[in-house]
Formats: sequence, C-alpha cells, structure tokens
Amino acid sequence: MIPNDFIQTLLSRVDIVDVVDRYVPLKKAGANYQACCPFHSEKTPSFTVSPTKQFYHCFGCGAHGTAIGFLMEHGGKSFPDAVEELARDAGLQVPRIERPGESDRREQAMDLTAITLEAAKFYRGQLKDSPRAIAYLKERGLTGAIAARFGIGYAPDAWQPLASVFSSYEEPALETAGLVIAGDADKRYDRFRDRIMFPIHDSRGQVIGFGGRVLGDGEPKYLNSPETPLFSKGRELYGLFLARNAIREAGAVVVVEGYMDVVALAQHGIDYAVATLGTSTTPTHVQKLFRQSDRVIFCFDGDAAGRKAAWRALENALPVLADGKNAGFMFLPDGEDPDDFVRRRGKVAFEELANQATPASEFLLTELCAQHPPTSVEGAAALVAAARPHIAALTAPVLTALMQRRLADLTGLPENELRRLLGHRAEPDRGHRAEPARARSHDEASGSQGSRDEPSRRPLRPAQFGQRRAPSLVRELIQALLLQPELARSGTLPRPEGGTPEDAALSALVAYCAGSEHTLTTAGVMQYFAESPHESVLASALAAAEDAGITAEHAAVQLADGVARYWQQAQREGFPGVPGESVPTAEEAERLRQLEMVRRAVSISQPKTTRNH
Ligand SMILES: [Zn+2]
Repeated sequence: MIPNDFIQTLLSRVDIVDVVDRYVPLKKAGANYQACCPFHSEKTPSFTVSPTKQFYHCFGCGAHGTAIGFLMEHGGKSFPDAVEELARDAGLQVPRIERPGESDRREQAMDLTAITLEAAKFYRGQLKDSPRAIAYLKERGLTGAIAARFGIGYAPDAWQPLASVFSSYEEPALETAGLVIAGDADKRYDRFRDRIMFPIHDSRGQVIGFGGRVLGDGEPKYLNSPETPLFSKGRELYGLFLARNAIREAGAVVVVEGYMDVVALAQHGIDYAVATLGTSTTPTHVQKLFRQSDRVIFCFDGDAAGRKAAWRALENALPVLADGKNAGFMFLPDGEDPDDFVRRRGKVAFEELANQATPASEFLLTELCAQHPPTSVEGAAALVAAARPHIAALTAPVLTALMQRRLADLTGLPENELRRLLGHRAEPDRGHRAEPARARSHDEASGSQGSRDEPSRRPLRPAQFGQRRAPSLVRELIQALLLQPELARSGTLPRPEGGTPEDAALSALVAYCAGSEHTLTTAGVMQYFAESPHESVLASALAAAEDAGITAEHAAVQLADGVARYWQQAQREGFPGVPGESVPTAEEAERLRQLEMVRRAVSISQPKTTRNH
C-alpha cells in the first residue's frame, strides 16, 4: 500500500507534459498541449494536456487522468508500477505501508502467479500432443495462429496431469490456485481434466485463472477457476487484455457470454470482443468496459434466457452510464450464439447487427412497456411505477432528462407531472441547480430528434453532450475547488445532501480537501478520487472548466461568488440540510468573497461565473 501523502508529493514533482510526450508527441496550443488522442482514433486533436492542472483530457472520447493515470491507461501498468516509474524519474523512493499480513499475501500472490503460469505453459504444450483436441478446434474453424494468440491449451484426460509439472503435488498452493482439488480421504486430483483450456489474463497480461471447455460429453460443459486470491470472476473479463488495442481502434467493445465466442469472433476479424466468466455482468465489469471504450455493446441470444441476462446487464449498466457513454444491446437470432452466428454469416453480418444495437434507454423502456402497456390510465401508472427505480438509478443528467421526456411521451403525461410521479421528492437542492431553461430545452430537443414516434437510434455524441450542458451552481463550486483545492480550508463550504451525483461529489470533495493536511493540487485531488463513484462528475466538471477557459485565478472569485449564492438560496428555501451555527450569512460570504479577491489581486473584469449565454 502506497501512502496517499506520497502520491500527492509525487504528482507535484512530475510534469505530465514530459510523461505524456514520451509516448504521444505533444504540440503546444495556447496554455496547453495537444495531440491526436491515443485512446480513440481521430484526425484533429482533441486530446489536451494541461501543465497547470497536471491533467489530461480528451474532448472526443472523455479519456482523462493524471500522469499516474496516463501510465496506467496508456501503458497498461498497474497503479504501483506507474507510481514506481514516476518516482524513479523524479528521484523519489516509494514508501510502503505494510498492512498486517500484507507481505505474506504478496508472497503468496507471487507464488500463485508463478504456479498459474507454469500450468498455462503445460496445458499449451499438451495441446500439441492431443490430436483429438486439435481436431476439435479445427472443427470449430480455429487456426493455429488464433489458438496461439489466445494461449489455448489442453488438460489431459487423467487424474493428476499436473503432478508431472510441480515437484510437490501435495503443495497447498496448488489448491489455493484452484488447480488441484482435495477430495475425500485426502485424495488429490486436477480440477481440469480432458478440457480445452482458455487462460484468463488480468489487465497486465498475467495468467490468473482458466476456463475449461469439456471435450467430450462430460459435465459441466464449461468450468472456470474458482475464486482465488488472483482471480475473481465478478471483476475479470475474458479477452480484455488481448483486445485492448482493437477496442480502441474499433471505438467499441462487444461483450459476449463465452470464451469460445470471443475466440471465434477474433477468428473472423472481430477482435474487440470480451466475455464475462460464467456470471452475469457486474457493475465492476461495466466500469472496466467503459474505461476502455465509450461504446459497449452487450450481445445476447435472442431467447428468453438471453433477454433475462440482458436485463441484468442493463440494471448494472444504468448507474455507471455517464452522459456520452453508450451501452447497446444486440440480440442474435433465436438458437444462435456468437460463435454459430459469425461462422454461418460472417463478420459483416455481425457488425451490421452490432451497429443496430438497441440503446440502453430504449431497451429499458421497451421491456417495461411490454410488461406494463401504457394503453390505459392504470397501465401508464404501472409503467411509471416500474420505471421509477431504474430512472432513479441513473446518474447521467442528460440521459435522465431524455428518459423522462421519452416516458412522458409514452404515457402522455406532462413532463413536470411525470417528474413528480417519479418521486423526485422536492429535493432541497433543486433550486440551486440553476440551469437556464433555454440551454436545457436546447439539449433535449437536439438529443431526442425524431424520438417522438420512433425510437432514436442516433448514438449520443459525447463531446457535444458534455459541453452543451449548462453549468449548475454545484458544478461551479466543484470546478472552483478542483482548480484551487486549497480554498476548501478558507471558509464554510456547502456539503449538499441533495442526492444528485454532483451534490455527492461536491460533499466528498469538500470533506477531503478541508480535512487534508498536505498541499493540495488539482492532479493530486483527481488522483485521490480516481476510480471512485465521483470520478466522472469531477472529470467532466474539470473538462468543462477547461473548455470555458476558467483559470485558477477565476476560480477564487467563482468559489466565493458561488458559495454566497448557494447559502442565499439555501436560506431563502429553508434548506433543511443547513447546520444552524455554521451557516455564514450572505454578508459573511460576501466578505469572504471580497477577501479572496483582494488576496488574489485578480482583475474583477473577468466574468464571475462560467455562464456564457
Ligand atoms: Zn480520445
């Protein structure tokens, strides 16, 4: 475990421009540096590196991060490795806090990695000696090159094949690694026997487990490694490591249900597919996928089981769908899995179907309408009730607005009435999210073009959505704090409890910055919140600040001004979340504002807010 203090120090010592420039040559553009984005394909540069913020952001695909994040995303490094590399360059020694038992665990993990790798090599070697296994793969249309690329192997048909690999078959680590099973009366035997073996890699390319498909008629047909210290099926996706570059090139990732599907698709040139491992899609899966691509297409069989699995994936995708992130659902003809489909009909047919994937919002409403047809007043009421928890699960503001609009169309209810029915309790913060009506309707009108009668298949366009959204007061406070995190210590800042993602992000941000003892920087704070639920809100606020040209100097004014307006509005509305004694009056907030302005000696001729309408 690396102490957070060190991360903060490290990020204040390295220069992200140097770090990125080593991999992606940058060009100076105004105060920033630019390049064509390494994370998606483009012809005009929208990848921006800010030397003042020590942060990169792509206005095309939304990729973002600190120097550490860049090494992780671009170089495929683990967090400790990325920190280690930067520290070496900066001449710093990485301190580590060992939790009790951690060094044991690390040694154990190293052992397990070595054992798993040995087993993978053994299985790969055994494939060459098994004509039956080779015949099976050939029959499925796989070439030797594809089998080699995926490291496919064969576990022989015997009780203890691995006994020939490891000097001690009794070694408990073999059991921990999930390779050996201790049965009754201590009889030990291999978990995988007479199976085609698919090694499962983690994000660094290390083998952490296996999937095995039975060669004969044995049961179960598919068998995976059990949960081990290395492998957790709820976190890992088969094929993700190998598909990373192809996913970037394709601008999409296809999620299927089996490893054979992934391999078969790759054999036909669709090398941006991954599979869940004998489990339904988890929120961790979805997060991992959206870190790789803005477009995630879930591919399922068209039968009832497939639609059920799709529904579970949808439920897990909704909370992590950010505006501009696009989840689609494609259904194969009844009875065909992706392997059958692509072998029978080929790449073009598969990609055509993928391009017609139903957007998550449309899939949700279609399924709900099928269960609760809004053809009567009762039906409409049931539909709204059924939609309520799903819409509440959404965290993307524009998507939420679009969904409400669609639901209003479907039920024939006026939109404000619908919002009330959807159970938006008169949220205390509602008034604070000062979104100019003009900008809002502009968003909605352009986003739902043609959606009144027909489901819109037009993909969301990330950059535009992010940029057109009018800034709310809470968002302005977030921006100001991100640009000048030290200001969190200078006054009583709101920690709203309204329950929107922006409220939650501001609260967390204020709590962290006000309570932190070391020097705060934009990059340090962003790194602290990396992979937290607040990451996307914070990153998009920071990107919007960049887009609006808000500098650290404006931030002080924006913060003081925003805080004053926030508390004024709170008082006007009898905001119940305000703790009595710590509320600064409007006058105090104003004084704070004046003080800041004097301290920073900034020209007041700059706009006070980001609003550019
Ligand atoms: Zn990009």
